[in-house]
Amino acid sequence: MLDHGSALLSRTDPVLAELLDDEVARQRTTLAMVASASVAHPSVLAAAGSALSNVTAEGYPGARYHPGAVWFDEIERLAVERAKSAFGARYANVQPHSCSSANISVLTSLLAPGGVLLGLDLDSGGHLTHGSAASMTGHHFTAVHYGLDEAGLIDYDAAAELARAHRPTVIIAGASAYPRTIDFQRFRAIADSVGAYLVADISHIAGLVVTGEHPSPIDLAHITTTSTYKQLGGPRGGLILMGREHDTPGPDGRSTLAQLMQRGVFPRSQGTPDPAAIAAKARALGLVVQPEFKQAARRIVDNAQALAAALSAAGHQVLTDGTDNHMVLLDLLGRGMSGVVAERALEECGILANRNRIPGDTRPPLVTSGLRLGTNILAQRGMGASEMAHCARLLDKVLTATSPVSDTRYRLPREVRDQVRAAVAQLCAAFPLPCHDPSAVPAETRRVL
Ligand SMILES: *Cc1c(COP(=O)(O)O)cnc(C)c1O
Repeated sequence: MLDHGSALLSRTDPVLAELLDDEVARQRTTLAMVASASVAHPSVLAAAGSALSNVTAEGYPGARYHPGAVWFDEIERLAVERAKSAFGARYANVQPHSCSSANISVLTSLLAPGGVLLGLDLDSGGHLTHGSAASMTGHHFTAVHYGLDEAGLIDYDAAAELARAHRPTVIIAGASAYPRTIDFQRFRAIADSVGAYLVADISHIAGLVVTGEHPSPIDLAHITTTSTYKQLGGPRGGLILMGREHDTPGPDGRSTLAQLMQRGVFPRSQGTPDPAAIAAKARALGLVVQPEFKQAARRIVDNAQALAAALSAAGHQVLTDGTDNHMVLLDLLGRGMSGVVAERALEECGILANRNRIPGDTRPPLVTSGLRLGTNILAQRGMGASEMAHCARLLDKVLTATSPVSDTRYRLPREVRDQVRAAVAQLCAAFPLPCHDPSAVPAETRRVL
């Protein structure tokens, strides 16, 4: 059916079809080091593009507000069971449209308007939905933020101090730009010391958590949230998970946290679920328990450590001097280069890594003074330590050859660009996207890969 749709798309809308084919080609031929991305298996994309998308049904399996959900009910139950089994959880909600939606469902369920939450500061690597002023979570709640210590590590003592001073109802542990292991046990002790609920947001590290490469918060936090596409190879979407605290009473003292979260997603903060995305989550959650995913997760961490070491040896400023996860953060202040200049110069050469604010950054959010690199997709492509040394040389070559003219403009010699582009093309050809061999697939279905 999907193949039929693909063929129809080619025939009836060649303009769109060609753009989608161009996108596939771009993904094949660029060295993607965006830390918040992974590549979805073609079978995940097939589920996401399936006719289940035509089902409109509010509510949960067995308790829908619309008819026609007989197979969707089965599929959502399957996704919930697979989520629980993959993460060792006792409760899973697979309906959140994103991790931001998941966080809003959680926070609006636990906090009254004006209620106090404690989370990691945005500039220290936190996420917008952890109480940033730019997010509704910073408007509707009273947000207090902890940060990093001198070494760039989470300042747990300061977090404990802030908890004592502000008595938050919710403490959030989790980050978008933090290269080190998060001590969920320590956070739980801080939460217990003030009677707060601990919410772990593992959006970035869910693939490492599911494979045991990072300690799991499932039984330590009261509630865990994640995105499904950043490291799980799933569709756009989020999950809410709970371990042994699933039947702990919520703030009202009557409902359990599980009951609270069922209502917290629908009807409190979302309407109809996205059935095809839920099918794709079920497929991705089936893949993350396979040995191949475990091997890739191990490679993600090994590669990030190799990349950090090689960049450091080449004289680049690596925040915290290394990494425990998939992420390497570069401080560009010493080079007099902004994050956006680094990002654009690299993109011109076929390498993708995003600008990122760093602690003490004075440049605006669209400019920044840092660069965030990630190894999820490099590991998925099967690259290992020697390729990381190669990648580090390419990164170094571009960053060294780039002369900033201002915070947003730069000069890069054409011969450097051409040499790096050729090297990137070679590397990508030698390490194709997993299961995306173009010769194995009829032309008209390529765009869904
Ligand atoms: C990316 C991210 C989110 C938001 O995820 P979306 O699925 O993009 O809404 C939430 N929390 C953290 C820590 C993130 O890194």
